[in-house]
Amino acid sequence: MYLYETHLHTAPLSACARAGVRESLEYYKEAGYAGVFLSDHFIDGNVNRAIRELPYDERIRIFFGVAEEAEAIGAELGISVFSAFEMSYKGTDFLVYGIDKAWCLAHPDMDKMKKSELLRLLCEDGALVIHAHPFREAQYIDHIRLFPRLVHGTEIFNACRTDFENELAAQYCKNYGLIPFSGSDNHVAGGLKRFGGMATEMPLRDVREFIDAVRSGAAKPFVRDENGIRLL
Ligand SMILES: [Zn+2]
Ligand SMILES: [Zn+2]
Repeated sequence: MYLYETHLHTAPLSACARAGVRESLEYYKEAGYAGVFLSDHFIDGNVNRAIRELPYDERIRIFFGVAEEAEAIGAELGISVFSAFEMSYKGTDFLVYGIDKAWCLAHPDMDKMKKSELLRLLCEDGALVIHAHPFREAQYIDHIRLFPRLVHGTEIFNACRTDFENELAAQYCKNYGLIPFSGSDNHVAGGLKRFGGMATEMPLRDVREFIDAVRSGAAKPFVRDENGIRLL
């Protein structure tokens, strides 16, 4: 079984992350993972404050530049690194896989689009869209929003959310026939008590293979904690 972290934030690109790219990759290599998806907060979310006022193109180049550097570090350490991002809409978050820098540069209107329209466009253009922690409650979130017809799947396990929130997410996922997904929402490298992720039977060569494995059910959500690894 090959383990992949699907939900990972790094400093300084994600303003709330406490661990950098190298520290995070070293941790996952040590823990025996085959790879990670960097899913830093996108330019519509809690991205590094220093880049928020820059022109769109520059923000996109800086954002994807981090993943490009991370891929080189991953090659050095012997762990696969793939790029993704976590889009944000008033506290409702979506993990997006399979959208690259070229796509973003060709769609400078994406951060002005209505989120439901953007989700539709991303799906049409081959992205895998996962609702992250759909039942998260927090002081800054006014209300819970669901987009059951505009996402492929949802996290049914997020290592940083409560069991209550994850159980509601699992029920939501089942009721709508969505793809069950798992991730850590890691902002601290090895500093978590438990981890989520997706496991595959074959190592992934690229993001497209990941999307196919998730959509076919070949990639399975897992939890890793002090009791070991358990498929969900
Ligand atoms: Zn964060
Ligand atoms: Zn996150």
